Amino acid sequence: MKADSRSADEGLALDVLIVGAGPAGLTAGMYLARYRRRVRIVHDGSSRALWVPRSRNIPGFPEGIAGPDLIARMSDHAVRYGAEIVESRVEEIACGQNDEGFSTRLADGATIDARGLILATGVDTNLAELDSGDHNVAVRNGVLRYCPICDGFEHSDERIAVLGSDLHGAAEAMFLRQYSRDVTLIPKWQVALTDRQRGELAASGVDVLEGRVLRLDATEATMFVTIEGEAEPRRFDTLYPAFGSTPRSELAAMLGPLIDPKGCIPFGAFSDGLLPGVYAAGDVIEGLDQISVAIGQGAMAATRLHNWLREQDGHVMADQK
Ligand SMILES: Cc1cc2nc3c(=O)[nH]c(=O)nc-3n(C[C@H](O)[C@H](O)[C@H](O)COP(=O)(O)OP(=O)(O)OC[C@H]3O[C@@H](n4cnc5c(N)ncnc54)[C@H](O)[C@@H]3O)c2cc1C
Repeated sequence: MKADSRSADEGLALDVLIVGAGPAGLTAGMYLARYRRRVRIVHDGSSRALWVPRSRNIPGFPEGIAGPDLIARMSDHAVRYGAEIVESRVEEIACGQNDEGFSTRLADGATIDARGLILATGVDTNLAELDSGDHNVAVRNGVLRYCPICDGFEHSDERIAVLGSDLHGAAEAMFLRQYSRDVTLIPKWQVALTDRQRGELAASGVDVLEGRVLRLDATEATMFVTIEGEAEPRRFDTLYPAFGSTPRSELAAMLGPLIDPKGCIPFGAFSDGLLPGVYAAGDVIEGLDQISVAIGQGAMAATRLHNWLREQDGHVMADQK
């Protein structure tokens, strides 16, 4: 039998631990496995991609692909080349003893040590609460949406509502104006916009309602919005809550002061790294929260980390560093 030609650090059995099995983590895992690295991906089953009813902006899938199908295909791809995928929650992370690698503790108490680390932990979407209708079914039916860049096109020329009282909501409504002349900004509590901002929305043809929302009722094809002081609920084809998202950057924070005031990991982390041997990729990084971006950053983080490991092992040309 041919000897295994992979460079092995005798101390740690695993080259790379990736936290997250969304598009970023799975791409990184597939690349690293194809670089013949011993790589394990740990995830807690909550990739946002699993929510995507059908994505139509992933290059090569003009008819679209359902998020769960994409994740299943990407998982199979990574596993086929030797990545290991484990479902668990990573609760703690720390630099290893004598600055050697990283040590993590999982929810069941197990520990995993690795020479390098990729954090692809995504974000949590801040959700709207419905008064009737199942939230996830409404997302699947497209009457409740969270990502105008992803699916605004699918609502071209429809009646679109944006729920949000502040500049973020106004900006989202303005963005959706490209798709429809019928865009209405609805305050969650009360409108917190200046006269100038209201003027900008009016000039673009975005309606702004003043009354606060009393009820959100989703049916198969319609979102009914009941506004304080109005006798009848308003009907929309879709509603976009503009509540933003919360980065899942708590593991990065355990390694040092590495995150920005909004809780995001800085943009350069997929290419320049966060610490020696630590990279990040995907939504958890400041920037455009999209599958294609997560895939690109996953590939980049994996390659940079592989090269860093080669450097540690003395497998690079000194003049090329
Ligand atoms: C409803 C909806 C529709 C969307 N539609 C589209 C679309 O059409 N096109 C598009 O490009 N984008 C779309 N997006 C955005 C897209 O889903 C994200 O950009 C993409 O999933 C980001 O990939 P990621 O790998 O960075 O993060 P995620 O896919 O969110 O994966 C994060 C991973 O980290 C894991 N994780 C986090 N913390 C821990 C921990 N402590 N321990 C273990 N595991 C952990 C999670 O389990 C998960 O596996 C949509 C999002 C939503 C919510």
